[in-house]
Amino acid sequence: MSERAPADLTPDQIRAELTDWVNRHWDPVMSLRDWRELLLDSGWAVPSWPERWHGRGLPAWTDEVVGSELLRLGAVGVPVGSGTWLAAPTILAHGPDELRERLLRPTLTGEQTWCQLFSEPGAGSDLAGLSTSAVLDGDTWVINGQKVWNTSAHHADLGMLLARTDSNVPKHQGITYFVLPMKQPGVQVRQLRQMNFHASFNEVFLTEARVPKDNVIGVVGQGWTAALTTLAYERRFAALRRPGYSSAPGRALDEARAEADDHFATYSWYPQRAGRPDLVIEHARAAGVADDPVIRQAIARLLTMHRVSIWTAERARAARALGARPGAEGSIGKLAASNIARESAKVHAMIAGAKGMLTGPDSALGGVIAEVLMSVPGQSIAGGTDEIQKNILAEKVLGLPGEVRVDKDIPFSQIKHRG
Ligand SMILES: Cc1cc2nc3c(=O)[nH]c(=O)nc-3n(C[C@H](O)[C@H](O)[C@H](O)COP(=O)(O)OP(=O)(O)OC[C@H]3O[C@@H](n4cnc5c(N)ncnc54)[C@H](O)[C@@H]3O)c2cc1C
Repeated sequence: MSERAPADLTPDQIRAELTDWVNRHWDPVMSLRDWRELLLDSGWAVPSWPERWHGRGLPAWTDEVVGSELLRLGAVGVPVGSGTWLAAPTILAHGPDELRERLLRPTLTGEQTWCQLFSEPGAGSDLAGLSTSAVLDGDTWVINGQKVWNTSAHHADLGMLLARTDSNVPKHQGITYFVLPMKQPGVQVRQLRQMNFHASFNEVFLTEARVPKDNVIGVVGQGWTAALTTLAYERRFAALRRPGYSSAPGRALDEARAEADDHFATYSWYPQRAGRPDLVIEHARAAGVADDPVIRQAIARLLTMHRVSIWTAERARAARALGARPGAEGSIGKLAASNIARESAKVHAMIAGAKGMLTGPDSALGGVIAEVLMSVPGQSIAGGTDEIQKNILAEKVLGLPGEVRVDKDIPFSQIKHRG
């Protein structure tokens, strides 16, 4: 089969061509970096991307088919994390070419890791109300302000930073999307301790931090458009799963497993945040209440919700495979995930009773239930709260009148509550 595959290939044809290529090139003795460079050169790293930018110009569904097949063949794909899932597709969509040239490759090899610097103490749901400022000084943007809830900022190389470059225009229009080098004196990162005992988030203080003039994603003053792309991808990847790497020996695999260990250490509580509906039957059996009709009904209701949301996600995936960009279905999925997480926490609490509050090895499912109860609230906040998803669905899907937004059309500097 030719190196340039036609766009109407079936999944089996894609798998066959990939297998042939992997058999000829995969060598677990090579470094992970060298392997990923090869993968990028071949276009198999991100097959749906344009050929000019490391892809093969294939349909969107091929990314998932190729990702799973690489694992099945015992090889490794692109790195997990916000670089691959958020920064790279945003840069691909909005450019400019110079940034695509400079940043896509090191992001997709895992050489550069990222964090998202969007939220601020005074700007979460109302993200466009952010007040971190960026002022151009010669060839450098000078940044001042504070970000918060920034996952993985304590070990990221680069930050996806939203900052205000013009206060004299309405709030959505004066924002610019920067690539912030994290390792510099003007960036101070402080970890936050959560009620579930983990520390995944940070506060990031920006004091005269420096960004090279050309580190702008998209266009100066039009960062909001690019930010919406990142947020749409974020909803799509709300459920993170660790790749099932082969346990075979080899340098590339060792490095990929270490990379995933490092990445998922931050996210170890995310399965609990999703409520662990997969554990309810095991939990009911272990607690001796699997015959209780009330518990059985609660479990059945929960698992029905879970199954329906899987079908909705599959329908959305099929739409994307036909070329649709992530859209309102991301909000539906995100909202469903919150409802399932809450319902699941409720069912686990019914099963465990007061024992669900205990932690440690002797407690319900080794402390997992307590962690579920303390982590589930985060599900309905991260990546846009439930209320914000409902607003999006009400306006974009149901066509209901928009929310009253009194500060939308006046210059940001004239909005009263700031300061
Ligand atoms: C697990 C997790 C990971 C996160 N990771 C990151 C990250 O990596 N980077 C980053 O920048 N941020 C991150 N965040 C922050 C997250 O994006 C914000 O917490 C979120 O957008 C909500 O903002 P807020 O906390 O300021 O709440 P607020 O916006 O102050 O909201 C408070 C309450 O008011 C409601 N509300 C607000 N506006 C409206 C409205 N218009 N209509 C109806 N109700 C409304 C909200 O729904 C909520 O219940 C993360 C958060 C969590 C929980």
